[in-house]
Amino acid sequence: MKIVLLGPPGSGKGTQAELICSKYNLPHISTGDIFRSNIANKTQLGLKVKQYIDSGSLVPDELTISIVKDRLSQDDCKNGFVLDGFPRVLNQAKQLDSFVKIDKAIMIDLSDDEIINRLSKRRMCKKCSNPTHLDWLVDGKCEKCGGEVYIRNDDSPETIKARLEKQKLPQDVIDFYVEKGLFVKINSLSTKQETFIEVDKILKSLVK
Ligand code: AMP
Repeated sequence: MKIVLLGPPGSGKGTQAELICSKYNLPHISTGDIFRSNIANKTQLGLKVKQYIDSGSLVPDELTISIVKDRLSQDDCKNGFVLDGFPRVLNQAKQLDSFVKIDKAIMIDLSDDEIINRLSKRRMCKKCSNPTHLDWLVDGKCEKCGGEVYIRNDDSPETIKARLEKQKLPQDVIDFYVEKGLFVKINSLSTKQETFIEVDKILKSLVK
């Protein structure tokens, strides 16, 4: 099961990716997570990408594509994976297609108003690094593992606005997967469980 999750920031891709990965025992490959951990560890890559991420811009393809290629070549990805946040532009989609065949590209869609509302309440867990939400916290801590939470640097109101402007999923990426017969769009519903029921219908049709 080789899945790509597309959609605007805040649509719940990361949350759905976690749910898929825990149900189907797949590795969750999030380019955003890879970049954030490199920034936190002050690696060379982290130093290079920080300015782009902090300003809500996309990281250049030459940095992003090689990271994904390396990660997907690791053993744990042989039987499948969920790619979250990649591809975001047509060149990335084409490059990905040159080194791995995807089974489904699932777009999780959400209106701009709802994105702003959700991102302003998003929290990240320091311990399990999962996205969570202000309203889901238990005693101010991550509802899954009890870890401390923080607000992502790029979830400030100005950067959210920049990300929405600069990172709209281009139609040519959608067309690329539509032409291959791999594209499915679902709406992000009010709870993660409701959305997952829709996502899982698509996945079940793949494992039959
Ligand atoms: P995310 O966690 O997916 O919202 O990604 C956080 C940030 O990482 C984005 O706002 C971009 O700056 C950068 N990023 C993540 N994935 C990509 C990608 N596929 N191409 C370029 N930049 C990316």
